[in-house]
Parts: sequence; structure tokens; C-alpha cells
Amino acid sequence: MKIVLLGPPGAGKGTQAKFISEKYSIPHISTGDIFRKNISEKTPLGVKAKSYLDAGKLVPDEVTIDIVKDRLSMKDCKNGFLLDGFPRTVNQAEALDLFLNGKGEQIDTALLIDVPKELILERMTGRRVCPSCGASYHIKFNPTKVKGKCDACGADVIQRKDDTESTVKDRLDVYGKQTQPLIGYYEKQNQLSKVDGTGEIDKVFERVINVLGAVGK
Ligand code: ADP
Ligand code: ADP
Ligand code: ZN
Repeated sequence: MKIVLLGPPGAGKGTQAKFISEKYSIPHISTGDIFRKNISEKTPLGVKAKSYLDAGKLVPDEVTIDIVKDRLSMKDCKNGFLLDGFPRTVNQAEALDLFLNGKGEQIDTALLIDVPKELILERMTGRRVCPSCGASYHIKFNPTKVKGKCDACGADVIQRKDDTESTVKDRLDVYGKQTQPLIGYYEKQNQLSKVDGTGEIDKVFERVINVLGAVGK
């Protein structure tokens, strides 16, 4: 299964991605996680990306596209992959299509997790993440079992620097202008599927499985 996850920041892409990746045994590839790891390790990529993440702006396509192509060329992507946070521009979507078409492949679906804007701010400002394994929690909707510690790996969870109210607003703006057009892009190619992203996390996952089941292998 080759899946692209679409949806605004805070839609629950990362949360659902963990479950989907386990169920279908495909790697979860989050460009945000890749950037954050490089930033914390102060690699040349991290140094380049940092100011964009801090400002809630997109890292330039030239940088981002190459990283994803390299990642998709790794062995573990042979039987599929789950892209979370990529593509985020039409340019990135075209580059992904070209890359896959070059190998005689295409994505099975672009799955949009649909959440109304009004719910986003509370989800984002209450988000806590594990810097070590990427797991995502929420102080109210999905708290860690032990306060402040990641359920999966025990590391201290943190609040992302870009999850403040003002940066979230900027990111929603960027989403509206640069990423939302992808919905039409995939619709035109008959590759779009949609789930309602509101309600309990496991209810959303049930909907996701139903939709992906209909898309087939
Ligand atoms: P994204 O990767 O799309 O930015 P996340 O998966 O990190 O979104 O989710 C954003 C925040 O919302 C997190 O704090 C997460 O725990 C919470 N969340 C995810 N799904 C739901 C849901 N169905 N209901 C309430 N909160 C949710
Ligand atoms: P969210 O979980 O809120 O959707 P991500 O973790 O996916 O956020 O992304 C965090 C930041 O990383 C973005 O605001 C942006 O600066 C950068 N980023 C992630 N993916 C991309 C991409 N495909 N293109 C450009 N920038 C990206
Ligand atoms: Zn963890």
C-alpha cells in the first residue's frame, strides 16, 4: 500500500499514521520528524531547515523533495509506504508522481483527514510529542499513561516550539494557501479518499481502515 496522508496541521495525521503503519506493515515517513531529528542533531540539513520550522513556513521544495526521494529509495519502502506531511505543495506532489511513474508505480490513495478549523487550535496547543520516537499525545484528548513520559518508549514528552497559538495560525495560513490545493489535485486524478477526523481517535482509525480496505491492495 502506498499512501499519502493529507490534512491540516493537527488533523491527526501523525496519530493515525502510527496505527496504519503497524496494521499494513509499511514505514511511516514524516518529513516533519526527519527535519526535527536533523535539527536536534545539528546536521547541515537541520541548520538549513530550522528557521523555516520555527516560523511555521515550508522548507523549500528543492530541499524537501530530494530528502523524500532518498527515503523512498530505501529497501523498506519496497512494499509500500505511508507519507505524513509530504507532499505539501503541488510542486512536491508532481515530483512524487514523476518519481513513482519512473518506476512504473503510483500511490494507491491520498487520504484526507478532515477536521474543521475550529478544532485545530485546541488540538495543537495541547499537543505533546515524544522527541525520541515521534509519538503524539494530547493533554486532554490523549494523555500519556504516566505523566510526562512517552507510553511507547518512556522518554520525556515535550511541547513543540511551533505549537504555540501564533505559529499555529501561521501554519494554518500556509496550509490554506499551499497545501489545500492538493485536495483538488488528487481529486482530479481520482486518487482522493476522505475520512471524518472528528471524534475519538480509535473511531477515526476504524473509518480509516474502512476507507483503505475499499481502496484495496
Ligand atoms: P498532525 O500530525 O496531523 O499534525 P497529530 O496526530 O499530531 O496531528 O494530532 C494533533 C493533536 O491532536 C495531538 O495532540 C493528538 O493527540 C490530538 N488528536 C489526534 N487525533 C485526535 C482526535 N481524534 N480527537 C482529539 N484529539 C486528537
Ligand atoms: P504537523 O504535524 O503540524 O502537520 P509537521 O511535523 O508535518 O507538522 O511539519 C512541521 C514543519 O516541518 C512544517 O511547519 C514545515 O516547516 C516543515 N515541513 C514538514 N514537511 C514539509 C514539507 N513536505 N515541505 C516543506 N516543509 C515541511
Ligand atoms: Zn517515545
